[in-house]
Amino acid sequence: MSNVAPGDCVSRVLFSQEAIQQRVQKLGRKIAEDYGVRGESRDTQKRPLVLVCVLRGAFMLLADLARQIPIPVQYDFICVSSYGNGTSPGAVRFVKDLDLPIRGRDVIIIEDIVDTGNTLDYLLRVFSARKPASVKVCALIDKPVRRVVEVNVDYAGFTLKSDEFVIGYGMDYAELYRNLPYIGILDPDAVQ
Ligand code: IMP
Repeated sequence: MSNVAPGDCVSRVLFSQEAIQQRVQKLGRKIAEDYGVRGESRDTQKRPLVLVCVLRGAFMLLADLARQIPIPVQYDFICVSSYGNGTSPGAVRFVKDLDLPIRGRDVIIIEDIVDTGNTLDYLLRVFSARKPASVKVCALIDKPVRRVVEVNVDYAGFTLKSDEFVIGYGMDYAELYRNLPYIGILDPDAVQ
């Protein structure tokens, strides 16, 4: 099933490579339906949908999802980081901002996982100020049990009912395990 033994770092596989591909295909079809067929009044040729990939975790999702959306799209990449100091918990800053202007454009933010919601809340506020036509959110994993800020995930791959730390398919622990082709729960023994 994979090129990395789960026993090395994963205590349990949650979503197999096949399950992820099937889900991503469905998300792609739904997005194409919403922005292409049903959204024909939008001029998808002149003003294609913009997919904004939040680095680094969402790179695999963007690569697979973009190939499942059979309408014109453009994509761009941003990188954000948490300040991580005790004085401003949840504070986020741009490490890399958008290159494309999004004024008047339909935008979908592509995230790996929505956890506390702080990152997404920040991005939605910053992007909305740039006056796009619309902004929606696609996340592979929605973890509502951890939410601190109320944010809505329009296109969710999977919803986690419990508070588990997951790795694989782009998601890391200490910058490792992003290359796992499946999503699993991090084995506590793998944490130094
Ligand atoms: P937030 O708490 O919703 O702002 O999530 C910020 C980021 O934390 C996500 O985009 C992920 O990169 C990371 N993150 C949150 N939960 C997990 C997890 O279970 N595994 C890996 N990364 C996570």
